[in-house]
Amino acid sequence: MGTVPSALKHCLSYQHLLKEQLWIAEPPAAAHPAQEPQASGLPEYIKIVEVGPRDGLQNEKVIVPTDIKIELINQLSKTGLPAIEVTSFVSSKWVPQMADHKEVMRGIERHPGVQYPVLTPNLQGFHSAIAAGATEVSVFGAASESFSKMNINCSIEESIERFEEVTKSARNMNIPVRGYVSCALGCPYEGNVVPDKVAEVSKRLYSMGCYEISLGDTIGVGTPGSMKKMLEAVMKEIPLSALAVHCHDTYGQALANILTAMQMGVAVVDSSVAGLGGCPYAKGATGNVATEDVIYMLNGLGINTGVNLCAVMEAGNFICTALNKKTNSKVAQASFSTGTIN
Ligand SMILES: [Zn+2]
Repeated sequence: MGTVPSALKHCLSYQHLLKEQLWIAEPPAAAHPAQEPQASGLPEYIKIVEVGPRDGLQNEKVIVPTDIKIELINQLSKTGLPAIEVTSFVSSKWVPQMADHKEVMRGIERHPGVQYPVLTPNLQGFHSAIAAGATEVSVFGAASESFSKMNINCSIEESIERFEEVTKSARNMNIPVRGYVSCALGCPYEGNVVPDKVAEVSKRLYSMGCYEISLGDTIGVGTPGSMKKMLEAVMKEIPLSALAVHCHDTYGQALANILTAMQMGVAVVDSSVAGLGGCPYAKGATGNVATEDVIYMLNGLGINTGVNLCAVMEAGNFICTALNKKTNSKVAQASFSTGTIN
């Protein structure tokens, strides 16, 4: 795993744990030099998109101080993560937690090779984001009409029109745009969402120029069964290489759903450090799948992510300590309570 900074005292003992149990979390290059992950039908490399600082913190009830957000992002930047969603340029009236978006954008240290997308719901948000130095943006659509109205205060059609303005301006400025489709596996207001509706909205976002479509199980109700059906529908409209999955773990299905998506060839996975966040629509929701848990599973499968699990666990420990809350990562819980790690 390379050298570990001495400051990461938890991780030194974690390293120890790994030495004894090589199969659990060594990067594939070192642990399985002869293994060929493709033989299993799974992608060789999975790109992890870290959404904790935005999707995670957005759902925290207490306003997180700006310097804590910046420090979290700076720590995540050193873990090998290829993309970190930083903040959201929505109106602070709607999302007070993201009111410091400009300060966060200006405060972070950007590492070469790391993408720092920000959410931009409309043209105004897009221009503010660009003025603050954003070099990649995301638009946030829904596959459910009721959710669209409740979440972004407009119909799906109206939202698509706004996104078209954003993607058009972005294209002129050579800014990549990522598209989200929320409620891809269920809606808190409408229940089931038909796969064809997800495919239709995804296609519109892709056609307007989004380079990647992240299919979000916003309330975490999906199962490998519904994930498979939904992906089959979407894959008829969009190339596999442009798809990502974004799973919440509310019903404990996230890792199984991600594995299902990977078996179908999806190679981009959204996750949140320490499983940060929650879901305002489901009681007891545990938020996004934890980045630590995804990496642990991928390491065990011999799939390369380029991310240092140990360093992500340290970042998770930092933010949980700062927020005075328990991590939602099972891997972090297990590792920090074995006695091997203090
Ligand atoms: Zn989410």
